Amino acid sequence: MSKSLQAIRGMNDILPEQTPLWRYFEGTVARLLDNYGYKQIRMPIVEFTELFKRSIGEVTDIVEKEMYTFEDRNGDSLTLRPEGTAACVRAVLEHGLTGAGQPQKLWYIGPMFRHERPQKGRYRQFHQIGLEVFNIDGPDIDAELIVLTWRLWGLLGIRDAVKLELNSLGTSESRGRYKVALVEYLSAHLDKLDEDSQRRLKTNPLRVLDTKNADTQAVLVNAPKMADYLDDESRIHFEGLKARLDAAGIPFVINTKLVRGLDYYSKTVFEWVTDKLGAQGTVCAGGRYDGLVEQMGGKPTTGVGFAMGIERLILLLETLEQVPEEISRQVDVYLCAFGEAAELAALALSEKVRDELPNLRLQVNAGAGSFKSQFKKADKSGALYALILGDDELAQQVIGFKPLRGQGEQQNIAFDALAAHLATCVVQG
Ligand code: ATP
Ligand code: MG
Repeated sequence: MSKSLQAIRGMNDILPEQTPLWRYFEGTVARLLDNYGYKQIRMPIVEFTELFKRSIGEVTDIVEKEMYTFEDRNGDSLTLRPEGTAACVRAVLEHGLTGAGQPQKLWYIGPMFRHERPQKGRYRQFHQIGLEVFNIDGPDIDAELIVLTWRLWGLLGIRDAVKLELNSLGTSESRGRYKVALVEYLSAHLDKLDEDSQRRLKTNPLRVLDTKNADTQAVLVNAPKMADYLDDESRIHFEGLKARLDAAGIPFVINTKLVRGLDYYSKTVFEWVTDKLGAQGTVCAGGRYDGLVEQMGGKPTTGVGFAMGIERLILLLETLEQVPEEISRQVDVYLCAFGEAAELAALALSEKVRDELPNLRLQVNAGAGSFKSQFKKADKSGALYALILGDDELAQQVIGFKPLRGQGEQQNIAFDALAAHLATCVVQG
């Protein structure tokens, strides 16, 4: 196929054979978030470039080299959203959702865009489900975010494969004092730092902790630790969170190098990581960002949130063989009709059945075909039962009911009794 007719590298089609798993995953998360009292918000996919620069920070991988930025026909600089928090904060401010200190528990789902090197678990268009909570300050809500993800891992059957890493970046004051100490230490080892880290030391020193470079990592082993610089407020918050995780029975490890890629975090930061996906091991990540709303022009408003990468979690479900068998079956009953008169009757009958059983997944054969070919389609559809309507059945106002997966004998059912019969043998979702 010519190049112009291919999808863009790193941007994937999600094919019909994959969508049942996506819908299962998304449905499971959506139900869970409903149960915990989170409300969905939907933001545009494109925003002014300035929004991301201001919120994510100029000296971050995303803003420095990953954004899809373009000029629109008015000459405005626009960017495909690389993450959801910035747009969510913008929307919340624009619509006054956090006015007068009002708490908000929000979630969103959708595609994000980053110009990274595509590889397993890393794409240029990928999908996140994110949560953002505003105006709830305490460690109780940080704990709730973690507890509900833990419950989600349980529902999905992947708890054993993920590990919680936790750190505190402190208030901006304690972070400021830590930065001074870190810069002093790293400056004394400047020649051993990689080029990126040398640059970041001047622009955003905390990001050096995040380096993947082995030499720099070796230097970091003896670097000052944030934990030793936390002020009382940050420490009490962090202790409060840890106590709650203990109470909920959620295991965690403290990772003092965990700083997260974005500039806006404060106090709690966390990541759920797995060793089952190779290098792309973080499936869910987030933290507290108490200064962000103000930085974006709002009144002081605390915030905490996370985002999970749907592709990575889907990969994990597949890797761990935690794809429930029943989700791939999308047809309960397949109706075969032979001849014009039977087709007309089948249409009327199937609509009547749908009236009575709105959740029944009933596929009516289209495109006619011989008995053999329709039956083959019925079987291939994955349906549990075939319904068979020919001239003989029509004359008697009955329909043939044939189990396709070895549950009992074929029998004739009167038209009038069909819906009731199907209701007894098909479990409806
Ligand atoms: P990484 O360190 O893997 O690049 P990140 O810190 O840039 O991740 P976040 O911005 O915190 O990621 O996004 C939250 C989650 O979204 C990640 O933990 C991951 O699961 C997912 N994610 C981020 N970037 C990508 C991508 N390019 N492709 C697929 N999933 C991604
Ligand atoms: Mg990244």
